[in-house]
Amino acid sequence: MIWYPYTQMKTMEDPILITDAHGVFLETPEGPMIDSISSWWAMDFGYRHPDITKAITDQAEKFSHVMLGGLTHEPALKLAEKLKGWLPGDLNHCFFSDSGSVAVEVALKMALQYHLNRGTEGRTGVLALEHSYHGDTFQAMKAGDDPDYHFVLEAFGPDPDFIHIPAEEDALEEAFERYHGRLSCFIAEPLLQGAGGMRMYDISFLEKARRLCDRYDVLLIFDEVACGFGRTGNRFVSDLVLPDILVLGKALTGGHIGHAVTVARDGVFQAFYSDDPDKALMHGPTFMGNPLACSAALKAIEIFDRDDYMSKIRRIEEITRREMAGFSDPRIREIRIMGACVCLEVYDEKTLDGFPAFARERGVFNRPFLNYLYAMVPYIITEEQLTQVLTVMKDWFSKER
Ligand SMILES: *Cc1c(COP(=O)(O)O)cnc(C)c1O
Repeated sequence: MIWYPYTQMKTMEDPILITDAHGVFLETPEGPMIDSISSWWAMDFGYRHPDITKAITDQAEKFSHVMLGGLTHEPALKLAEKLKGWLPGDLNHCFFSDSGSVAVEVALKMALQYHLNRGTEGRTGVLALEHSYHGDTFQAMKAGDDPDYHFVLEAFGPDPDFIHIPAEEDALEEAFERYHGRLSCFIAEPLLQGAGGMRMYDISFLEKARRLCDRYDVLLIFDEVACGFGRTGNRFVSDLVLPDILVLGKALTGGHIGHAVTVARDGVFQAFYSDDPDKALMHGPTFMGNPLACSAALKAIEIFDRDDYMSKIRRIEEITRREMAGFSDPRIREIRIMGACVCLEVYDEKTLDGFPAFARERGVFNRPFLNYLYAMVPYIITEEQLTQVLTVMKDWFSKER
């Protein structure tokens, strides 16, 4: 039997059987529903996108997998070359992984070894944000700050190498003054913190982080696994503030196959590039650079530009702001909108009990967590479908219910 994620198996409700998926729709035996959360924020281009599906099947007819140990292949070469030109600055060196969590582990390992390779000692610390989420593997859990999810870490007791601060400039300055000599990196989900509650903060915080990282020789890591590919209304936040290491996942393949990438700037790569074998990056996920995933990613990037996805995202934000304007309820603490993400934070999580069934009866799939009712719709959604999603969210609070 399947052991399902993030759930108590004994009390969980039966999961919904999906029989087909296309565009914004998940098909169930009871009929279709709009997926308002894009399968954990990955399916930005919609399900079964014809061009991405074709890219995968075309590649599958050649070969579905070849390892990158001592071998290489065109889909991975092309994707690395494409990302080099497509990503900002000198983010030029692509290390592929099979999931976002692993790509975060790679970023943290890179940052640690970057300092070791340059002979700087004692740089084992990781500075991260409160309410951050970086994945479910162990160092990623530690970099995250998610006691509701990762309480298993309590078994180890506190780890002095992981320091969490609020996304506030004063706290940032203070942390750098106090800890800079032992920090390898500062890792953040830039502008939009996803699993920590769709929290949004200002770009000036990241500009300050960039300056402090430069001053103290600390690497800046952006985890854009959730917020990349336009979700914040910026193509990448890295277009605004350049990190030293960028992590991408989820929407990288248009959500069609799990894959991720850790992209390093020239200066990071140079610290590993040596005649000394001990300076090599010792990592290698079996399925890194999988040809099906790389073909999907190449096509997704092509479509993102070709079909001007940034304008679709701007339209989603406009409609969302229009539909939410003037809406409030005493049970709602705050309504947050950024790009193609909207979150209604309620005071009491019980307020959201029963919402998934309510939404489903109205043709929408949604899955709130804790105090957060949110939507991260596929970018291909029509105005009518988006209005339907937002209306269902608002109607949950209406008196007639
Ligand atoms: C989902 C997520 C990850 C982990 O990605 P997986 O592919 O689930 O391992 C890491 N960072 C952020 C910000 C995420 O949202």
